[in-house]
Amino acid sequence: MNTHEKFKEYGKKALEYRRKCEMLLPEIFKSEIWREKGFLSIYEYAAKLAGMSAAVVDDCLKIHKRIEDKPELMAIAEVKGLRAVKPVAYIATQETAVFWADKAAEMSQHTLQTYVKEFRNESDVKSEEEVTMKLKPEVLKQLEKMRGELTWNDLMERLLGNDVPEAVEASSRHVPNEMQRFSKGKFNGKCHYPNCTRPGEILHHTQRFALERVHDPARLVYLCKAHEQIAHLGLFDNEDEAPHSWRLREAADKSDLKYFVDRKVQGYRSG
Ligand SMILES: [Zn+2]
Repeated sequence: MNTHEKFKEYGKKALEYRRKCEMLLPEIFKSEIWREKGFLSIYEYAAKLAGMSAAVVDDCLKIHKRIEDKPELMAIAEVKGLRAVKPVAYIATQETAVFWADKAAEMSQHTLQTYVKEFRNESDVKSEEEVTMKLKPEVLKQLEKMRGELTWNDLMERLLGNDVPEAVEASSRHVPNEMQRFSKGKFNGKCHYPNCTRPGEILHHTQRFALERVHDPARLVYLCKAHEQIAHLGLFDNEDEAPHSWRLREAADKSDLKYFVDRKVQGYRSG
C-alpha cells in the first residue's frame, strides 16, 4: 500500500470505530458505566477514552432519544452512524420514519440536510405565518439564549413538545440524570441568569435543597460560578420566580430562611 492508500484505509477504519463508539453512548448514559469506572461524567469518560467532545456526546444522546422508537431510522444509524440521521431525527414521525429512513440511506449527510431544508421550506411556505409579538427585553434575551442555532419555529416546536421531567422528592442531593440534562440544556448549557452568557457550571436549587428536599425542574437552575455565589449570598431578588424576573439586590433579606441556610453553607465552605 502506498501512503495515500494507507491513509484512506486507516481513515475509513477510524470513522467506522467512531460510529461504533457513538452508538454505545446511550447505553453508557443509561447504565452510568462511567461512574463505576471513576469518571466524573459521561463527558469526561467519552473525552478521555475516545477523544469525543461534549457537544458530540450531547448530539448523539439527543438524536438517539428522537429515533429509538423508530426502528427504520435506528437501522440506518447502526450502519451509517447516529449523526448520519441527524437531519431527519427531529422531523421524522412514526408515520414518516420509513420515508426518511430511505432518504437517509441513499443520501450523504450534507445532501440530506439540504433536502430536508428545502423540503421544509416548500411545505412551510403556505402554512407559515408572520407573527409580531410584544416581549419584554429580558424575556426576549432569555428566548434568544434558549434558541441558540435553532430557527424560531424550531424553538417553538421544541417548547411545545418539551417533556419536562417531574419533580421528585429525594433524600440525596444527586439530581436525576434526565433532570440534569433538562436543566443544563434549557439555555444551551449557558448560565440561566438574565444576560449572562457564561457557561453554566453548577446546578442550583432556588428553594434550597436543605429546606425542601425536592428536585423540581421549575426550581432547578444552572448557574455560572459567580452567579451561584451571588445567589448564596442572598442577593437574588425574586429568586423563586423564573430567571428572567431575577434582579440583584443590595443586601440579603436576613429574615429569609434561605439566608440562614446559606450562612451555614458559607461556614462549611470557609471552615
Ligand atoms: Zn452567570
